[in-house]
Parts: sequence; C-alpha cells; structure tokens
Amino acid sequence: MADIELRNLSKHFGSLAAVDDIDLDVEAGEVVCLLGPSGCGKTTTLRMIAGLEDVTAGDIFIAGARVNDLAPRERDIAMVFQFYALYPSLTVSENLAFPLHAERITKEEIERRVREIAGLLDLSHALGRVPGRLAEGEKQRVAVGRAVIRDPQCFLFDEPLSRLDIAVRQEMRGQIKQLLNGLHKATVIVTHDQIEALTIADRIAVMRDGIIEQVASPHDIFAKPANVFVAGFIGTPQMNLVEANVIDADEDTATVNMLGQEVVLPLHAEVSLQGTVARRNAPLTVGVRPRGLAPASEAGPTTISGQVDLIEPMGAETLIHLRIGENDLRVVTSRGHPAAVGETMHVAPTPGQVHLFDHDGVRIAS
Ligand code: ATP
Repeated sequence: MADIELRNLSKHFGSLAAVDDIDLDVEAGEVVCLLGPSGCGKTTTLRMIAGLEDVTAGDIFIAGARVNDLAPRERDIAMVFQFYALYPSLTVSENLAFPLHAERITKEEIERRVREIAGLLDLSHALGRVPGRLAEGEKQRVAVGRAVIRDPQCFLFDEPLSRLDIAVRQEMRGQIKQLLNGLHKATVIVTHDQIEALTIADRIAVMRDGIIEQVASPHDIFAKPANVFVAGFIGTPQMNLVEANVIDADEDTATVNMLGQEVVLPLHAEVSLQGTVARRNAPLTVGVRPRGLAPASEAGPTTISGQVDLIEPMGAETLIHLRIGENDLRVVTSRGHPAAVGETMHVAPTPGQVHLFDHDGVRIAS
C-alpha cells in the first residue's frame, strides 16, 4: 500500500479538465516530482491532495485512508509553498518550534527536534537570528524546516525553490534531497524545472493537459521517453524529433528517409521494427538528442548532412544548428568543433542514441 494513492482523480473548472482521470502511487520514503509545462495541472493535483481544492471525481488515499472529505488539517500532511511566510519577530529557533506548540510534547523534545532539523538543514549557526538577518536560501530552509518538523505522514512542496536565485537553488536542491532521504516520507514536489526534478526525484510524473504522460525514474524518463511529448520536453538542448519513412529494417538497423536523405540508423538493442512499423514507407518519428549526434569526416550511409547555420558556445561544449531544408538539426560537440558557419557538416547518430516513435508518437520498444 502506497502512502499517497490517487485513483481516477479529476478536477474540472467549468468545461476545463484541469486534471483528467490520473492515477499515481507514492510510496513511503519516495519523492515524486510532478513536472510539466505551465497549466498542465500540477498545482491543482497538489492542492487536491492537500485538501485545498475539492475533487470533481476520483479518490485520494493517504496511508490507506480515503481523505476526500477530510479538511486539510485532518490529512496529516505538511505543505511548503513557493512563498515562505516566517514570523519576522521570532528567531529561527522559535519559527521552527512554532508548529510544535499545538502538540503535546515537552519543552526538551521541542528543543531536540529544533536542533535535529536545524542540523539537517544547515541552520544550526542561525538559530538565534530573526528572519530579517538571514539570506534568501536560509529563509526558505527555515520554511522547509517548519513544515517538516511536525513529523507528518507526507510532504507536499509547491515550486519550493523557484523564487531563489540560481546559485542558491543549486545548493538547496542537494540539501532538500538529503533532508528528504533522511525523513523517509511520501513526498510530492511540483516543479516546472526539469533539472530540479531530475536531481531530487526518485520518480518523475510528466504531465500535459491534465493527464500524466509518463511516470518513471529520472534515468528512464531521459533514456526511455514514452512518447514524443516527453522526449521533447525533457533534456537540454531539446531532442531532435524528425519525421521519417521506413525504407528497410533488419535486427540492428533501420534504413529510413529523413530530412530528404536516406540514412541507416543503428537500432537500440531493445528495439526491433516489426509488423506494420517495418512496412515500407511506414511513418515514424526519429528522436536523437543533440549529444547523440557525432561529427563524421565524410558523408556515408549512416550520416546526415546539413549546412552549419548557427554556432552557440556553451562553455565546455558547442551547440551547432545545421540547416537541412526547412529543418534545424541541433548537434552538441565538445570544444574545438570541426565546422564554420556556411560549411557542410556530416553527423552520424551514435549507437544506442536513436529513439523511434510510431505514427501516434508512442515509443517503439520490443
Ligand atoms: P503552473 O506551472 O503555471 O502553476 P500548473 O501545471 O500548476 O501550472 P494548474 O495551476 O494546476 O497548472 O492549472 C491547470 C489548469 O487549470 C490551467 O488551465 C488553469 O488556468 C486552470 N485553473 C487552475 N485553477 C483554476 C481556478 N481556480 N479556476 C479556473 N481555472 C483554474
């Protein structure tokens, strides 16, 4: 039994299905990130779990009990919002202790928990300060600490780091992951920041238009996207997704017509093109990440050729845009790239880096 279970959960605002019949299980000790573009239903899902939004249909279970009809404070959850609200006149220690005053625990136990949480969140040095004398990252850590100190059944985070600047955010990602690892609670985090999701989550639920497109580990979401939406949404720079037609296929390769060129693609060991997909002219979408294309010295059966249109230095790597007819093919090379704007460049998909999607945009895997 999962600690948080969503069953056929929907939320309609008038005719809009903000959340449309989703299922999700979050185990104790597991961190699940809801990730997706703006308006896909992440916050609405979180608010329904918290009890801040009524459900239109479906059920929510926390620790096995149906909580649809329970008020937020009866659900034994802690929620951390994007906007932290600390008591400005109380010290960090008093802010952290505040939620414990309503519970029947001794002063010594309160002090012990404050010290423990402050240690986990690297706040021990700041316990005597008021919020006005804290850095932004420290303030948000106090807000997180205040939410988790009560030892609830599960945690809900709504874009907890989005207000922080990039350097602080990076540091806090690691701290939150460590904290959550130590607390062993079911946790749901809403974010539109894929790096945040990829670093913090045990599993990611990618949402679009109120539905969950894929739930998987960060590795599998990246390496085995279930469909073209997830493939294009996850990963920077974005995966190249190119329409193609099958010319021929065997166990290890598929010869396709893509970008007006005939290309022999190396197939992933798990993929075999069978049945209708192997049919001559069957339409496919070929997905290759920019780092999955390697420059080749000359054109050959496995290469794709294009004209260098734009070169974007990215520090240790360079992003090259190849123009092929109306299409833009993105290639990432290590520094010292081999071409200049206007030149013709040949690239070959690296074995293991070719993703194939069928006519409906669904990943082809055997
Ligand atoms: P963001 O990342 O921008 O916060 P989100 O994925 O969290 O987006 P939601 O806030 O859950 O998305 O909104 C999902 C859809 O429901 C959106 O189209 C939004 O406009 C709509 N919506 C949300 N709350 C309400 C409301 N109270 N009344 C009407 N429509 C709403």
